[in-house]
Amino acid sequence: MNSQFQEFQRIIASKEGFLISCHVHPDGDGIGSLLALGAVLFKMGKNVRLVCTDDVPSVYGFLEDNSPVAISQGFDEPPEVLICVDCAERERVAISADIWNRRNLFIINIDHHITNAGFGHLNIIDSNAAATGEIILQLLKELQLPVNHQVALALYTAIATDTGFFRYANTSAETLESCSYLVKTFQIEPAKVAEQVHEQKSYNSVRLLGEVLNTLCLGLDGKVAWSVLDQQMLAKYPVENEETESYVNYARSIEGVEIGILFKELRPNQIKLSWRSTSAVDVSKLASNFGGGGHARAAGCTINGSLPEVIDKVLHFVTDFYGY
Ligand code: 5GP
Ligand code: MN
Repeated sequence: MNSQFQEFQRIIASKEGFLISCHVHPDGDGIGSLLALGAVLFKMGKNVRLVCTDDVPSVYGFLEDNSPVAISQGFDEPPEVLICVDCAERERVAISADIWNRRNLFIINIDHHITNAGFGHLNIIDSNAAATGEIILQLLKELQLPVNHQVALALYTAIATDTGFFRYANTSAETLESCSYLVKTFQIEPAKVAEQVHEQKSYNSVRLLGEVLNTLCLGLDGKVAWSVLDQQMLAKYPVENEETESYVNYARSIEGVEIGILFKELRPNQIKLSWRSTSAVDVSKLASNFGGGGHARAAGCTINGSLPEVIDKVLHFVTDFYGY
């Protein structure tokens, strides 16, 4: 067993109060990892709180249904241990900022982002893992901790969503083996999970997609495609944040496109960028230039400025990147 897993085992055995959090704007991997680890520690008799300051996207509501611990937006008692799952940086942990000032707080950082610099006292980071859920499954198996159907469903969903349902380059033999194990041992139904996540779209989200696709542009000899989602469109078709997550994939899916970008206006003068790429470009490096990060094929950052200013700035940067 590797030394990080041993250290995790030691901490779990010796401490009682745990607070687990995922990243802001949580996705399937964040929520799945949070609920899976939370349920296991709960079953071990630990005092567990699950915290995410943002709402759980309703598509992942089915994961919370059978969880012994609910996700709340805050916490009362200070924990002994804070476990951050799927968070590339401390600043992305979805928890009130004053937590970091607590003395004697032991921080465990479990993640698969290549840009994670290791902000915990114990860092379990594997950038080859397709999802944080895959690392947690490995941890639970090695430490022989109790997995049940609810935990398996959360982990399967974490891995399936972070691999685009096994379509992205992070899907490895180990990823498929992990999911095969979950399906076989705990009777997870892949078709049901796919249906829960992808076939329950709101009418507004599909109409909003239409608005976003109308803004699609192609540049740099067809290598870069981008589209825009502004507050006016959102006011016309209100949706949850999570429902816009897949819009950027349409830009990348165009033949010849190496980089797809979605410029989303969070509020006036604050633009969130989603970067997606094919195997040609590592977009985590491009997003890092603007203070963000993520993975080689999917990254994000937030830039202050008006939509036209930010688009102009980013396209100039990408033009320089290609050396035009
Ligand atoms: P998305 O475009 O779906 O928001 O994010 C894609 C990937 O980039 C995710 O893995 C996410 O964790 C990461 N990411 C998104 N925004 C940021 C950011 O502002 N900072 C960092 N470090 N990573 C981000
Ligand atoms: Mn992830």
